[in-house]
Amino acid sequence: MKPIIVPRTYDYVGVYLTDKCHLSCCYCITQHHQARFGSYKYSYLKTEDWIKGLNRLVLPEGIPITLQGGEPFLFKGIWKILENVKQKIDIMTALPSFLKREDLIKLKTLDWNKRKALYPTIRVSYHKGQNDYKDLIKRIAELQDILSIGLYYLSEPSQSEEEVSELKSFAKKYNVELRLKEFLGDYGDEKIGNLLYPEAASGINLSRRVLCKNTVVPIAPDGNVYLCHSDLYFNRREKALGNILDEDFMFPKDFLPCDNYGLCNECDVKVKTNHNQEYGYTSVTIQPADDKPIPKLDFKDDFTGTFVKYSSGKFK
Ligand code: SF4
Repeated sequence: MKPIIVPRTYDYVGVYLTDKCHLSCCYCITQHHQARFGSYKYSYLKTEDWIKGLNRLVLPEGIPITLQGGEPFLFKGIWKILENVKQKIDIMTALPSFLKREDLIKLKTLDWNKRKALYPTIRVSYHKGQNDYKDLIKRIAELQDILSIGLYYLSEPSQSEEEVSELKSFAKKYNVELRLKEFLGDYGDEKIGNLLYPEAASGINLSRRVLCKNTVVPIAPDGNVYLCHSDLYFNRREKALGNILDEDFMFPKDFLPCDNYGLCNECDVKVKTNHNQEYGYTSVTIQPADDKPIPKLDFKDDFTGTFVKYSSGKFK
């Protein structure tokens, strides 16, 4: 199959091996704005096809593929993928209890996990109320001599400072790298997140055509490649850019029109760090298709280093 060139400007390639997850967080980002990711009828790509498709990708320097989901370890073919995909691979996982050190040691090579990165390349998620950080930390501690692995705790707003401080002490005790992952979305009557385009993730289709360009590649469990996470989580098949098994696949060079402005996923429109950990990056660029400007946060002025809360389009 012909190679698929991922443009140099791209920052992230997210491979959704599965939409299934053993956790059920009510704030899961895959279901924001009432998307039903996790309940679509996919023609799931078979392991051999994932291997074929992922090996076609020609990635920009320093960009791995990231296996995610859902919980990627629920996809049984993941072990073959780790053995046979010739890319550097990051993994976002909630470390399900069946996953053992022996499973990883059995692999022919752990080369896929060896790349220079400024952060752990296996990122284990702790979600309050869904998994147990003590269990996760102990299990990560048993893996960190062979893998680049660390714990990311979600800044779930109900967590008290005391809880976070206990979590930090526990991670320190086991010498496990602990990082914060920003909570995004609704909490009570507030929306939380530093969004470059605040009304883009209002949760209401604003019935306004816009032009959009992205620097991430979300690939769905059926191999469809989407322009953005909203398209993937809503399963807008008609908007897929193509499939990683298509004979000819090319990424768009220009902005594409979109009629779903307002239903953008927070992860595409938030201000964050890029793969070099430089703050101030946002995955998408949205431009008006008419003569009205798109409201935009001047994060350099507004960003205080803490979460900016907004409701009804107003920042507090
Ligand atoms: S405007 Fe929003 S929904 Fe439309 S393509 Fe861009 S990120 Fe996706």
